[in-house]
Amino acid sequence: MRRIDPKEAHIKPLPTPDSDSQAYWQGLKDGQLLLQHCTACGHVQFYQQAICRHCGSESIEHRAASGRGTVHSFSVVHRAPGPAFKQDTPYAVLLVELAEGPRMISSLVDADPMAVQFDMPVELACEAVNDQVVLPRFRPIRR
Ligand SMILES: [Zn+2]
Repeated sequence: MRRIDPKEAHIKPLPTPDSDSQAYWQGLKDGQLLLQHCTACGHVQFYQQAICRHCGSESIEHRAASGRGTVHSFSVVHRAPGPAFKQDTPYAVLLVELAEGPRMISSLVDADPMAVQFDMPVELACEAVNDQVVLPRFRPIRR
């Protein structure tokens, strides 16, 4: 197990793209949430993998999602999991059900975390952490 150096504990962990997820992370830099579509069986999946999790086909392609979904479940974090997240509390961790079907874990932006509700409509909000990394967050869709 990798132990976090106490000097690095205040630094938030960031994703390290690999060959399966490189296109996904680049998509976010371009403002798109890419999902994998299996051209053999039609299955849509998130997160990225080399094969279709439904039928095992390697014939999968990335397509941009609508960026819309609903809050399937959520949790409001009051006690930070480490020093790096202390200034963010309270914040809402979301399990978003995307319009295309897959569910993904993300977090809420541009809204009061205490106001999150089940089935609340949300949309993608790309958040640049630095020049290299853009993270997918979600904000409420206001009518
Ligand atoms: Zn498939």
